[in-house]
Amino acid sequence: AAKNKGRNLYCHFTPDMQQHVEKHIHIAGELRAALAGKQFAVYYQPIVDLTRQDRVVKAEALIRWIHPIQGMIMPIEFITIAEETGVINDIGDWIFKEAAQQAKQWQQDYLSHFQISVNKSPSQFHTQDLVHSDWTDYLQQLDMPSDSIVVEITEGLLLDDSHNVAKKLLHFKENGIQVAIDDFGTGYSALAYLKKFHIEYLKIDQSFTQNLAPGSSDLALCEAIIVMAHKLGIKVIAEGIETQQQRDFLAQAGCDYGQGYLFAKPMPACEFEGLLTAQQAVES
Ligand code: C2E
Ligand code: MG
Ligand code: MG
Ligand code: MG
Repeated sequence: AAKNKGRNLYCHFTPDMQQHVEKHIHIAGELRAALAGKQFAVYYQPIVDLTRQDRVVKAEALIRWIHPIQGMIMPIEFITIAEETGVINDIGDWIFKEAAQQAKQWQQDYLSHFQISVNKSPSQFHTQDLVHSDWTDYLQQLDMPSDSIVVEITEGLLLDDSHNVAKKLLHFKENGIQVAIDDFGTGYSALAYLKKFHIEYLKIDQSFTQNLAPGSSDLALCEAIIVMAHKLGIKVIAEGIETQQQRDFLAQAGCDYGQGYLFAKPMPACEFEGLLTAQQAVES
């Protein structure tokens, strides 16, 4: 392609870019094949109620690619490419359905209000119709309350309204699906700004949770986020809690829910069930 440069003004591709594109097309094909071949798995990470002895009351669904040769591939390795190639829409729909079925089972077997959150990339939001009713229809088909599923989006999405984000979020709200702002604090949105989006949860990013110490600015920030979120009627989930001390600081600050390795790492559904069974045994 480089040889053609100058001869063909319309050829802007450098060999590097060509390689990049080919790699993406290749991986997009692999991702589709993986979806068709059932190589994806949903892992679930507990979200605990900090006000009720760290009881497990929710879970976040996190995708894993169980590759027949490479073994487990983490989302950081493929989510961006899935977004750039549009495969994320099919992956996202699949995850949603898996999570919905799982929530239904755990509601029946363990906790009637058990909620599962699923991550939704900005590109999924942008390519989705204004009235995206597939998900709400699916929950109706399963005869489940629509607040069984929480949609996690990142705060950056709120800043760009060229894609009718506010209207799409309102549509979720009107249909009872709750929304959480993921990785909160890493973007640029002002808390007051959140009011107009009908948000149910804020998830404080792990970069703040992990540096909590008495008198630290991160602790002050977490405390301020929690107080202001509560004034706006928003509940707070702290991500990335790894130590008892971090947990205690956050609980002390009034944080509602916690998620992190201190409680448990993301795990397959069967393992999660073991956790719920053990919890039920302790409580009864
Ligand atoms: P996220 O939504 O912010 O998910 C939280 C990430 O933090 C997960 O990484 C989780 O395993 C990790 N984590 C949880 N507790 C701790 C802790 O105590 N310490 C540390 N160091 N990490 C912790 P994971 O599963 O690798 O996912 C990474 C990101 O990939 C997610 O970040 C999310 O943005 C994206 N992702 C995962 N699954 C999906 C999916 O199904 N769809 C989309 N669109 N994105 C997904
Ligand atoms: Mg998330
Ligand atoms: Mg997060
Ligand atoms: Mg994150």
